[in-house]
Amino acid sequence: MYSIVIQYVLFMLCAQNIARNIQNYNIERAKLLEEELTIQVGGNIKLSDEENVANDILMQYKQRELDEFIQNPKYFNFSRHYFTYKDDIEKSEVYQIIKRMPKGAALHVHSSLMLSAERLVALTYEDHLYACFVDDDLKLHFSVTVPQRPCSSKWQLLADVRNSTENITAFDQNLKKHFTLYSRNESDWKNDINSNWKRFNKVCHTIKGFIAYRPIRERFFYEALKEFYNDKIMYIEVRSSLPNLYELNGTVHDLTHMPRIYNKVAKQFKKEHPDFIGIKLIVTMHRAKNVAKMFEIIEVAKQLNTEFPDLFAGFDLVGQEDLGKPLMDFLPALAEVEGEMNFYFHGGETNWYGMATDENLLDAILLGTKRIGHGYALIKHPSLLALVKSRDIAIEVNVISNIVLSLVSDVRNHPLASYLALGMPVVLSSDDPGAWGADPLSHDFYIAFVGIASRRADLRMLKQLVINSIKYSALNADDKTKFITELLREWDIFIKDIITNFK
Ligand SMILES: [Zn+2]
Repeated sequence: MYSIVIQYVLFMLCAQNIARNIQNYNIERAKLLEEELTIQVGGNIKLSDEENVANDILMQYKQRELDEFIQNPKYFNFSRHYFTYKDDIEKSEVYQIIKRMPKGAALHVHSSLMLSAERLVALTYEDHLYACFVDDDLKLHFSVTVPQRPCSSKWQLLADVRNSTENITAFDQNLKKHFTLYSRNESDWKNDINSNWKRFNKVCHTIKGFIAYRPIRERFFYEALKEFYNDKIMYIEVRSSLPNLYELNGTVHDLTHMPRIYNKVAKQFKKEHPDFIGIKLIVTMHRAKNVAKMFEIIEVAKQLNTEFPDLFAGFDLVGQEDLGKPLMDFLPALAEVEGEMNFYFHGGETNWYGMATDENLLDAILLGTKRIGHGYALIKHPSLLALVKSRDIAIEVNVISNIVLSLVSDVRNHPLASYLALGMPVVLSSDDPGAWGADPLSHDFYIAFVGIASRRADLRMLKQLVINSIKYSALNADDKTKFITELLREWDIFIKDIITNFK
């Protein structure tokens, strides 16, 4: 009897101990989880009561969408190529909410690939447009008479070719293929990175030739601003090279002419859309060029900086990093203007490691870049990652671009997941949305929010990302404050909209 009592007492003590241990374990676990949620992007944002109601609605949709995929991973869109599910995105309620969200700014966008292929095709109805079709290649040029430019077939008026076809809709569909990489045919995009960049460069080349005609460039840019504005983007930092635009009478403009056009068109757009904040320009040069050319372009950039201080933001290099020259090759020119001009370098847009491409990040940071374009490989460089965080250098992440240009196939493996978890200074942008038929920003936000960020990431993360787009822009402090005030006003309307229309 005595031993049974002792055994019982011992059992009870043990059970109490285990219960206490489990209780402590759960407290510790919740604390750790809470700590991680606070570290992540948006973790410090406090939501208002109304925002909490909207957040519950948003999270219900997000978690339902994700939970369906956890049960059926083979249908999980984000593990597949963007082109396979692009047309289904509209069905998502989360996307519908994001579509209505005021997004602040787009900070990483290349001017010639901002506009959708549909709008580009509409612009080809302009008079005096000649076309040179060679196999699957297309050159376009405006001229009063047949262009005296190289063409290995023959220059024909596009209107004549179009009108001589039986089916104009089919003709325009085929024409559209020259303006976009988007295709449902897997063999078009299931290639290595260099082949996909080659296709991309071909599309760029056709579009750049087409929009080098000054009146078209003006209309192109206006239409592009409209598409961005309709996607709730109020301010854009446009990266652009400085091509020579031409007129129908043969006049060729100097390198400063296009920035003048941007300035003029943006002012006109703002006049017609008073809530639009405006644009700034980041002048770019292709990394295949040499130091001498860079000196030349930097001189023009300096001139632009003096003439248009409100428009000019800085300088960058573009083109496939893996095949182009690294920043180190341009050090003599870049070091000379360091401190005089802001840099917004692309860096680490690569899957390689320990190569000149990912080590571009090192030079970008040492040269004082204000932001890093892509920074895809940054996650592999702990010292640089720490510097980026301590110096508060924003990483401009362009998720869909990274899918289309072959850096990632299953976006859950995108380093953005880590950047968000670590609370890094991140902004989301879209690089070249026109080139792959994406929304100016909504698709990138949707994929990042549902496919990459934690299942627990909520409205606070979205709000922080939108605020970041203003915080890390090239606007001055006063303009940032005004912009954020305006954004928060729009944000309140958005919150009410979610509660009214999605409950
Ligand atoms: Zn880019």
